[in-house]
Order: sequence, then C-alpha cells, then structure tokens
Amino acid sequence: MDVIVVGGGHAGCEAAAAAARLGAKTLLVTHSWETVGVMSCNPAIGGLGKGHLVREIDALDGLMARAIDQAGIQFRLLNRSKGPAVRGPRAQADRKLYRQAVQALLAAQPNLFLLAGEAADLLLDDAGRCCGLVTAAGAEVRTAAVVLTTGTFLRGVIHRGETQQAAGRVGEPPAVKLAQTLQRFNLKLGRLKTGTPARLHRESIDFSQLQTQPGDNPPEPFSDLTATITVPQVDCHITHTNPAVHQVIQDNLHRAPMYSGQIESSGPRYCPSIEDKVVRFAARERHQIFLEPEGLDDPTIYPNGISTSLPAEVQLAFLRKIQGLEKVKVLQPGYAIEYDYVDPRELGRDLQVRKVPGLYLAGQINGTTGYEEAAAQGLMAGLNAAWSAGGGAARPGGVTGAGTELLWLDRAQAYIGVMIDDLVTRGVTEPYRMFTSRAEYRLRLRADNADQRLTALGWSWGAVGAARKQAFDRKQAALRQGAALARSLSATPDELNRQGFKINRDGQRRDIYDLLARPDISWSQLAAVWPELAALPAAVIANIETDARYASYLERQDADIAAFRKDEDLLLPKDLDFDAIASLSNEARQKLTAARPATLAAAGRIPGVTPAALLALLRYVKRQGSHRAA
Ligand code: FAD
Repeated sequence: MDVIVVGGGHAGCEAAAAAARLGAKTLLVTHSWETVGVMSCNPAIGGLGKGHLVREIDALDGLMARAIDQAGIQFRLLNRSKGPAVRGPRAQADRKLYRQAVQALLAAQPNLFLLAGEAADLLLDDAGRCCGLVTAAGAEVRTAAVVLTTGTFLRGVIHRGETQQAAGRVGEPPAVKLAQTLQRFNLKLGRLKTGTPARLHRESIDFSQLQTQPGDNPPEPFSDLTATITVPQVDCHITHTNPAVHQVIQDNLHRAPMYSGQIESSGPRYCPSIEDKVVRFAARERHQIFLEPEGLDDPTIYPNGISTSLPAEVQLAFLRKIQGLEKVKVLQPGYAIEYDYVDPRELGRDLQVRKVPGLYLAGQINGTTGYEEAAAQGLMAGLNAAWSAGGGAARPGGVTGAGTELLWLDRAQAYIGVMIDDLVTRGVTEPYRMFTSRAEYRLRLRADNADQRLTALGWSWGAVGAARKQAFDRKQAALRQGAALARSLSATPDELNRQGFKINRDGQRRDIYDLLARPDISWSQLAAVWPELAALPAAVIANIETDARYASYLERQDADIAAFRKDEDLLLPKDLDFDAIASLSNEARQKLTAARPATLAAAGRIPGVTPAALLALLRYVKRQGSHRAA
C-alpha cells in the first residue's frame, strides 16, 4: 500500500478518497463498513464558517458537498441578508442517505480498498519513519504513509449522570491500544470533551404549538457538480427552554459530570451543553431549540441546542417542561464523551507528525470539533500522505518534486489554510471550530468563490478529476464572458438620467461595474435597460455584483494579502534551535519550540511571541543564511 488511512469518519473518508485521487494505492482501515460516513452528532452539514470549508472541500474535488447534495432534506443559506463574505450554506441531512452517499462515492473511487477491523499499533522502520500498522487481529500491513483519523475514539469515555462507560461513540468500542502507541511516540496528548442531546420520537411531539422553519426554495446545492437537489425537502421547528426547565437543571447540577468533577476536560465553548448555558447565562429566561428531523423515513428528531450529560431521568424531566415536548418519548438519552487528542503543534503544515515522519493526523484527533473541520483536514492530510508516498499519478504544480514537498494552503487562500495554521501554530485549549471571524481576508475567501480560489490549484496537484475541471473551465468561460459584457455596456450621464438614474453630469461614461458600485442601483434596474444582462447565469450575476459592490474593499484586501505574503515567504529552517537564540525570552523560546512555526509570519501569530522576539528571530535566521522562499 502507498497510504493507509485509519478511521472511516469525515476526516478518514476525505483522506482516503484524496490519497486515491492522487493515484496512491490506499487502504481505509476502520471498525466496520456500516459506520463509514456516520454522523456522530447533529444531522447537518455546513453553517457559518463551516459552509466555507465544505465549498473548499468541493473545489478540491472532495466528497462532502456531493454527499450532502444527495442527502440534504433542508437547505438554507445563513446570513443571507448580510454581506457575501459571511454567508454560510447549511443543510439538514437524512442521516441514512448521507452515509449511503459517502459509501457510494468511496466505492466508486479507483485505487481505494477497505479493511474492516481495529488498528491497534503502528510500525516504525529503523529510521523512525512510520511504515505500517498492526490490526487488533494481528495482521501487519506495510505502507509508505499512515493517516490517523480516529475522532473521539482514543481512550473515549462516555458520561451520563453518575455512570461512565469506555466507548468511542455510543455502542462502539474505544481505541485504547492506539492511544498507548501515540504515548509511546512521546506525543503530547490532552483530553477534551463534547456532548450530544437526547433523540426524540417525532410522534410524541406536538408540532402544532411550534414555530415552523422552512428551508430555501429552491434549495441551492453545495457542490459545483450538482445541478439540482432532488431529495424531498422538509420543515424544521423551533421551541425554547423556559425557567421551569432551567430549575430542573439547576436542581440536578450536582449530578452533571461537568459540575460533579467527573469530567475535567474542556468542551466546545461555542456549542455548550444546556447545563452549561443555564449556569453561564443565568440571566437568560430561555434558549432556542431547533427540532431537526434525522431523516425522511426516520421518526427520530434531533433537538439542536440542548446537548446534555445529566442522568436519563433528569433529561426526561426537563424535556417534558418544554413547549411541544410535554409528552415526549426519548429514543436515546444524551451523553458527553471525553477522549484523547494530540496537541496539533506536534504537526507540520502538511499535518505530518514531526517526531514520526510518514504519520499524519486529521480531524477530531487534532483537537477540532465538527464534521467539516475534520473533513477539510482529512483532505489535506490524505493529499500530503499520497504526495510524500510518491503520489502515483500526481501532477506537480505549485510544488516541486514528488515525495518531498508538501501541499498546503495559506491563510489568504482558504479557510482550510486558516484552520491548519491556527492548529499547528497556536494549538488548542478547547475543541476548535471554524468561524468566519477567524479569517483575516474574508472578502476574498467567500463560499461562492471557493472554486475560483482552489480548483485550478487542485488540478495542478492532481487532486481534481477531469469532470470537475471541465465544469470549472465552463464556469470560468461564462464568468469571463459575463465580465466582458458588463464592461462593454456603458452610457453617458445624460443617457442614464433619461433612464431614470440620478447620475452626476460629469461627462464620464459609466459601465455596469461603475453603476453597480452604487448602493442605490440594482441589477434588475440595469437589466431593464440592457435586457442581455437578464440572460446571464445566476452565478455570473452574483460574481459581477460582488466584484462591483466591494471593488474598493477588495483592492485594499489584496494589498493586505500582498503584505502578508511577504512575511509568509520568510521560511524558518525546520531544524532551527530556538534555545540557541540568546536574546529570546524563556516564554518565547518555549512557545516557539512547542509550535515550531514554518514561517516568520506564523511565529508572529503565536500568542506570547512579541515583536521583539520576532526581531531576534529574524536577525538570527538572517545571520544563518537566506531562507527566503522562491
Ligand atoms: P469520527 O467521525 O469520530 O470518526 C472516527 C472513525 O474512526 C470511526 O469510523 C471509527 O470507527 C474509526 N476508528 C477509531 N479508532 C479506530 C481504530 N483504532 N481502528 C479502526 N477504526 C477506528 N461536533 C460538533 O461540531 N458539535 C457537536 O456538538 C458535537 N457533538 C458531538 C457529540 C458526540 C457524542 C460525538 C461522538 C461527537 C460530537 N461532535 C460534535 C463531533 C463530530 O462528530 C466530530 O467532530 C466528527 O465526527 C469528527 O470526525 P472524525 O473523522 O475526526 O472522527
């Protein structure tokens, strides 16, 4: 095998498919084929920041967007009324259809093989490079690179009230031996936790009392390869907690593992449990709950917003005080899970473990939370593993020399780049999730232009197939034609004033871009004057509108990006001995040694590394010789 991927979750599926797309003979080792592509928690893909990641995965020919398009039962563009930079596509998924879609995409992928079983240990060669794995059944499989994507399974422990149980997910065994292997490799491990709410029976809910939340009509696909959504669409509903609910929770806090001291690790701050919300936001009288169907022919309802690890009987007691849930039946109580993660500062930008070459990590194992974050890392780890393994049919593009260089994206290219840079330079203290606010260059990194940012690059890496490349080329041609048309249509101020536009009589002709830059002029007004505009495809119109309306901001952002790239180009030597730089403070030295930043700019993003420390670093590196990237 060229590459072995361990784990058939969201990171593992993307990693395996990406490695195989690059031409590497790839083996996916996971507990069972049935659980490949399972959504452990909420039945939804995308959202704010996360939707950007899904669009970027799609632009690099990954699976997630295509899978959700075949499984989505409610699509909504979040933040529609806000600027295009912060809009987030999201879709509610039919769990079963999603899993089936992922499995079908994997089954159709050439070069990809599956082994159902537990990975128990990793093999190292004499040089300390990872060269294979051993399954729990004792089989040895040799390879050039391994990608671990074990999610919440490393020494996983489920908590519900006073009870604890070793598990990777409810009903599935934890991965204990592999955690011991990582400890043996002297990797810095930590513990994190996350939680999930009770699952409810649809027939026991009185929806007539509740607010309905419909999806977008028509639903807009995630993937550039999906023409239309054909899955039937459903409504979600909204209800709220209330003071009586909060009282039940307050009365039982001593039985909540987070508060009884049974769990000490951090959970996702931005996705807190209901007991956390009740304590932290004590003044709030209510919290919103979305009741989301888990599937078209599945009676399960997922109550989004009330994850909990209180005892099952307490969960039932507070649920029945919620409007619409007075007679609710619980199909499966909520729980919290604690698991090991690896400090992502152990990794390089290619997600390769620095102490164990040939070993890559992706997903929740790196301290992130969420399917999209996992999938995006999986894709990059899979590509890099395949590339380092020789890359099969890979075409060199932005990189040089198969088997040596890494494939990566910087903070100005993609949210994927932002996330990986955050992880490997800053590490995590709580489960990391993506937000648009994490990206500095949001206007350039939009969900709608992910293909324009990444597909050509992905093609040059060998990560993008011919079908997507052709679709991309067609869209690019349409965008160019649309832009040329918009530049060619112009009028004098007198002509425009005769059409009802209030334009300064300064003698300047104005084209479509100039006119759209004004907030009081809309596309439909212009299309009434120039009917040929109405015939342009929606994606082309949206592109012209964004370019026109945000032209001055985009120009400024491009200048910022150029400045960022200057510092980003100053590579730090991989073997730099920070202890040898006498003028660094102890704190800066420790932080730099832990993160081993790849560039001077990345060093500057580590909290605690001051401008004075950066200057000392710069001087030292310059004295050692020029390391400016080509
Ligand atoms: P997973 O999806 O967990 O997949 C891991 C895969 O690895 C599984 O297929 C497993 O069978 C396999 N595996 C593990 N060890 C081995 C081994 N040794 N050998 C072979 N196969 C192995 N995310 C949120 O964004 N918000 C939430 O509120 C949230 N709550 C969650 C609550 C719970 C209870 C759980 C379990 C997860 C929750 N998540 C939440 C996290 C979300 O499910 C994960 O972020 C996402 O699934 C991570 O993807 P992954 O690919 O890293 O791992």
